[in-house]
Amino acid sequence: MVDAAYQRVIVKVSGEALAGSEGYGIHQSTIDRIAADLVRSHALGVALGVVVGGGNILRGVSVSGAGLPRATADAMGMLATVVNALVLEVAIERAGASARTMSALAMPQVCETYERQRALRHLADGRIVLFAGGTGNPFFTTDTTAVLRAAEMRCDAVLKATNVDGVYSADPKKDRNARRFERISHEEAIERGLKVMDATAFALARENLMPIIVFSIAAPDAVESVLRGKGRATVVGGRE
Ligand code: UDP
Repeated sequence: MVDAAYQRVIVKVSGEALAGSEGYGIHQSTIDRIAADLVRSHALGVALGVVVGGGNILRGVSVSGAGLPRATADAMGMLATVVNALVLEVAIERAGASARTMSALAMPQVCETYERQRALRHLADGRIVLFAGGTGNPFFTTDTTAVLRAAEMRCDAVLKATNVDGVYSADPKKDRNARRFERISHEEAIERGLKVMDATAFALARENLMPIIVFSIAAPDAVESVLRGKGRATVVGGRE
């Protein structure tokens, strides 16, 4: 029996989260901590997919320009997400669960290519699936990928790991009166102009009635706590 608030989820881990306090590149002990959290979450009986960002290595929008077309810069960003996924895959397997990286960009010598049916099969077989390479298209983000894969994998929610413990009415670092929401609808988040995800990702979530749970990955056992219905988080668009 599954002892969790959600039984099938995509966890979005930003590249920044993998960089730990260093802010850039791969911080192995941070990766090991996140991997252990994912493995414990999976042990609850939850079907788990992970979409990995690449911002700790490269973001297309930051390096494009000066002769480097955005589409090329984004291809580099997508490759960065594959690097992160492979590191996390190894860490998850070391922590005791079976994991498989599937990339939206074909690179068969490196990892499997994303195919929806095959990914569904991996989940059914109890593997943690790491979705790498974003959507495989430039001009998108891994937040959009997370919502897209969640819809394709028929997930209950996207768990968005960030460095804040939820969605606030204003920037909590700048405004002492900022208040954190426990729950908020997609519509209210738009009306209040709250930035939960980029506009494309958020529109896709809203259209597909996909709840987004925003929480801080810095908290120990962050993912497991959210799945157990504990921990500090904001549920955007969940059922009342
Ligand atoms: N990217 C892309 N298409 C996608 C997903 C990502 O082109 O579908 C590229 C884009 O350049 C982006 C980079 O990959 O900046 C890393 O992804 P993202 O910025 O979402 O990573 P995060 O901020 O989560 O670390």
